[in-house]
Amino acid sequence: MFYELEKDDKYPSVWYSDSDDFDPFISIKCPKYPGHQRGVRDINVNLWIDIKKPKMGDFVSTVYSDWLITDHVAEIFKANNLTGYRLQPVKVCNKKLDFNLWELIITGSAGKAHPDSGIYVKEHCEYCGSMIYSPIKKGIGIIVDEARWDGSDFFTITEYYKYVFITEKVKKIIEENNLRGVRLVWPSELGFDES
Ligand SMILES: [Zn+2]
Repeated sequence: MFYELEKDDKYPSVWYSDSDDFDPFISIKCPKYPGHQRGVRDINVNLWIDIKKPKMGDFVSTVYSDWLITDHVAEIFKANNLTGYRLQPVKVCNKKLDFNLWELIITGSAGKAHPDSGIYVKEHCEYCGSMIYSPIKKGIGIIVDEARWDGSDFFTITEYYKYVFITEKVKKIIEENNLRGVRLVWPSELGFDES
């Protein structure tokens, strides 16, 4: 059984620093269609953040839906030999915390969602590589294709790579340690009403 990490709205998200020295986006310009211009997160740039509200969980979401964790959580993950992630240091610009924050970068993968999820490529631009997928269907959600899953405790899928999936083992660890700031949902509960 798999679960997906969702932000717990009781804990406010943290912001990216507006310092001129911090630019985590790679700008992609389409040679054909100006509307395809976009910024893509450069995963090799360590995040600089501002904490605007003091309340913080053990899991912290950024306004761009990245996941950060505290030292405490990092130690628990390590002690349990969890797989499918690496940690990148996070710099807090506007506050002094008495612990470190780490960005949870997911390296595990389950490839494309199972075909029964009904997610297809809606639009693909051969000039800039832009790829738009059909929305996740309400009532079906994302069906993880176990044949494509690499067995990691943390993993993403190709089509919606910002969704972080976890195994039952991680769920137990989150619950047993009473880690806050995150809600666990069934992948079948994901999705939007067709509009
Ligand atoms: Zn394009």
